[in-house]
Amino acid sequence: MKSPKKPIRKQVQLKGIPAAPGIVIGKAYIFGTEELHAPERNISFEEVPVEIARFKRALLETRKEITKVEEKISREMGVEHGRIFSAHLLVLEDPVLVEEVITHLKKKKKNIEFIFVRILDKYVDVLSEAKDEYLRDRISDIMDVGRRILRNLLGAENRGMEDLTEKSVVIAYDLSPSDTAMMHKGRVIGFATDIGGRTSHTAIMAKSLEIPAVVGLENVTDIIRHGDMVILDGTHGMVIVNPTKRFIEKYEKEKKRYEHIEKGLFGLKSLSSETIDGHHVILAGNIELPEDVASVIAHGAEGIGLYRTEYFYMNRRDLPSEEEQFNAYKSVAMRVKPHHVIIRTLDIGGDKFLSHLEMPKEMNPFMGWRAIRFCLASPVIFKAQLRAILRASAFGKLKLMYPMISGISEFRQANALLEDVKCDLRRKGIPFNNDIEVGAMIEVPSAAMTSDIIAKEADFFSIGTNDLIQYALAVDRVNEKIAYLYEPTHPAVLSLIKMVIDNGHKEKIPVGLCGEMAGDIALVIILLGLGLDEFSASPIAIPEIKQVVRSVKYSVAKVIAEKSLQMQTGEEVRQFAKARLREMVPELADDELSSGV
Ligand code: PEP
Ligand code: MG
Repeated sequence: MKSPKKPIRKQVQLKGIPAAPGIVIGKAYIFGTEELHAPERNISFEEVPVEIARFKRALLETRKEITKVEEKISREMGVEHGRIFSAHLLVLEDPVLVEEVITHLKKKKKNIEFIFVRILDKYVDVLSEAKDEYLRDRISDIMDVGRRILRNLLGAENRGMEDLTEKSVVIAYDLSPSDTAMMHKGRVIGFATDIGGRTSHTAIMAKSLEIPAVVGLENVTDIIRHGDMVILDGTHGMVIVNPTKRFIEKYEKEKKRYEHIEKGLFGLKSLSSETIDGHHVILAGNIELPEDVASVIAHGAEGIGLYRTEYFYMNRRDLPSEEEQFNAYKSVAMRVKPHHVIIRTLDIGGDKFLSHLEMPKEMNPFMGWRAIRFCLASPVIFKAQLRAILRASAFGKLKLMYPMISGISEFRQANALLEDVKCDLRRKGIPFNNDIEVGAMIEVPSAAMTSDIIAKEADFFSIGTNDLIQYALAVDRVNEKIAYLYEPTHPAVLSLIKMVIDNGHKEKIPVGLCGEMAGDIALVIILLGLGLDEFSASPIAIPEIKQVVRSVKYSVAKVIAEKSLQMQTGEEVRQFAKARLREMVPELADDELSSGV
């Protein structure tokens, strides 16, 4: 059992990881932090079969429950989300787990609930030691299924999100994908969790549900009590507990401002993303799952600049078949037509692992066997994806791009495999777009430095600043301790971006940028002035980027970019960029909440 929480009266500010933007103010609802707890009782030899029968009945009940949830979620949110529950069914039906419980029951002669919780705890302990993020993420699946089985064994009622009767900010140690999927948008106005990262399923779902959320707060469940007043700022990753009147007023104002801007920006949806002096740039959306297309369209994006396909391979024990991939890519292509969709080929490794692929443990996974390196060494997996993309290219404007290209050789090797696949499709008379554009993601400094060479053979570039910054500055992008060094405005980063854009333009190919930097509002003017052709960002960031683009002159942006390139530090550039934004788009410039109150 958890220790009772200390009463707090004073305002407390907690900083976590922003998972989905927006500000909400409301009462806290503490959800599902109960530990798995089961009474202990000795049983006789005769009771053993009775306990086994109870266990099997509970498994059956749980199976029914999960299948029902799976159907509901697949129907309402799409099969991609529903698939999470197939993973739960796999946990439930894991013969090793079931066998181990029964063997222990026979040996220890204790009641089944007690045995079950002990075995489950053992699994969780082993998984929490795992280096592999995917395996650690499975803990929430196991706990989720474990809780259901235990409730069925104990005959306890299932307390779920449906118990929420008023609008609340949900506070939880972790939210399993099933909890998140069951969230009622009207009643759950926001949520905050102790654990989780930007790429956790919970964060992905929060974005697609458009519920403001903060994850990775570490101890939010120890600090907040049921019914506490809470301000949750999903844009900045802040949670303020028991805020003072001044804070509430300030955030209420900010919330109104945010909503007003959102409403106003929505009006820009059908307007062109061009500067005052008529220079047009493409504003595209980044997606992780086919379901995200709705948000891309709703926010008025002109296409998809980055479709991260690795999520397709996650949360499952097998590889997606060519057919399954084809259907997903085809549906995205058809929905986004006439705009383009840039499909990025599989980018696993780094901080994204797939448990069913036996990836070796590495000392430096971000610099290891990942992305295109893995794909070139795994032609069966790579070619299946290329075939699916090519086949889908007959149904819309698909482009494809390779991640983590470090030089022209890798680009050529990937293209050679692509050519093999094209030949095969041709031979079999399967339709595809023979002229599909093939681009290189520029996210490794060596590729940026040799972008003049790559530009001669690529159809477009997309700058992946999330990785480019970490490699150029030697700053691990997921390490919080050195986050202060992770500067998109560092002069080295700006020079690399400029070099890539100029080299692309010399060869007359378009250059986009699809890292988080594209949605960094203060930097839009500089990127525009550097000559970027396409910004690809999270769909919710698109209206703001458009507002900035429409408020400036291209000629002025060029001068601003030129000045930024003369500066010596990242901080200098950031302050300069903010000041220009304040002058030109004052309604978007006030972003000082976390430090300014
Ligand atoms: C990047 O590196 O900038 C990028 C867009 O890709 P990811 O964040 O998936 O590595
Ligand atoms: Mg990357």
